[in-house]
Amino acid sequence: SGYIAIIGRPNVGKSTLINRILGQKLCITSRRPQTTRHRILGIKTTDKGQFIYVDTPGMHSDGKKAMNRYMNRAAAASIDDVDVVLFVVEGLKWTEDDQRVLKRIQQDARSPVILVLNKADKLSDKSDLLPQIQELAPQYDFAAVVPISARKGMNTDVLEQEIAKLMPEGEMIFD
Ligand code: GDP
Repeated sequence: SGYIAIIGRPNVGKSTLINRILGQKLCITSRRPQTTRHRILGIKTTDKGQFIYVDTPGMHSDGKKAMNRYMNRAAAASIDDVDVVLFVVEGLKWTEDDQRVLKRIQQDARSPVILVLNKADKLSDKSDLLPQIQELAPQYDFAAVVPISARKGMNTDVLEQEIAKLMPEGEMIFD
């Protein structure tokens, strides 16, 4: 059982991904249990334990304003105590914003990060991704790099396997 944080710019497909992964298994809808630091998006119970998906409000990339700095620190602290961070980007749209957020995550948190390259269905050729991945992966210490299509459900099973590898063994947290 463990916690998985989902982070990424608006519109990269985080909600679509969470709906795809949780599907009918979204067992908590109206009254979501809250932890101090996270908003729980949903829990998936599998034979490997419970996968608790949370979001991290206030993870802004703009560190210029004092308020944002404060919120960035809170956000960084909140991702420090999850077991895995899913950093979701659009396959071919790697922005400076993404870069800034990723730097913050890796400076301030020790959690392993999986780079999720979403909207892979938009690519004419999957090899379009390779140069970008090869450029990025060595600079950052990713636990895995997984191209997916949240909308079409492509490769999300592989993503879930990568997540499972990083989950600690343990008893159920919610029942
Ligand atoms: P969020 O703001 O990160 O939660 O993003 P959403 O899940 O709301 O998705 C933003 C838009 O991207 C929506 O129009 C989705 O249908 C679209 N989208 C999400 N995943 C994919 C994908 O894998 N492929 C394509 N082509 N579009 C996607």
